[in-house]
Amino acid sequence: MNQTEHILHIARLKNNCPECYATDGLEISFVQMEKETQFYKKHEAKIDETLFCHSCGNVIYPVNWTEDIERVYQYNKKQATPKNSVFRLKPISYGIIVLGIILVATLMYGFILQQDY
Ligand SMILES: [Zn+2]
Repeated sequence: MNQTEHILHIARLKNNCPECYATDGLEISFVQMEKETQFYKKHEAKIDETLFCHSCGNVIYPVNWTEDIERVYQYNKKQATPKNSVFRLKPISYGIIVLGIILVATLMYGFILQQDY
C-alpha cells in the first residue's frame, strides 16, 4: 500500500516561537494523506496540521501555542481546503466486479438449465 502526501496549504508565520522566541522560524502546514492500494485510491478525511520551527527545529504542539498563533492558525486553516475523501476505484476493480457479475450470471443460468430436467 502506498501513501502520498498532499500539501494543502503551507505558510510562514511571523509569530514568536514558544521554544526559541525567533520570529522568522515558524511554519504551519496542512497535509492530507492519500492511500493507494492495488484496487482503490482514497484521500484520508483527517488533515495533519503541523507547526514547525525552522530556527530551533522543534514541532510546536497545540498545548504550547499562544493566542496569536491560535488566531493565525484559524486563519490559515480556512485556506486549506481538503480534497474530498471519496473512494476511487481503479480499472482493475471494475474488471473484478464485471467478472463477478459474469460468474454469478453463469451459475444462475446453469441452475435454471438444471431445473428443466
Ligand atoms: Zn523555535
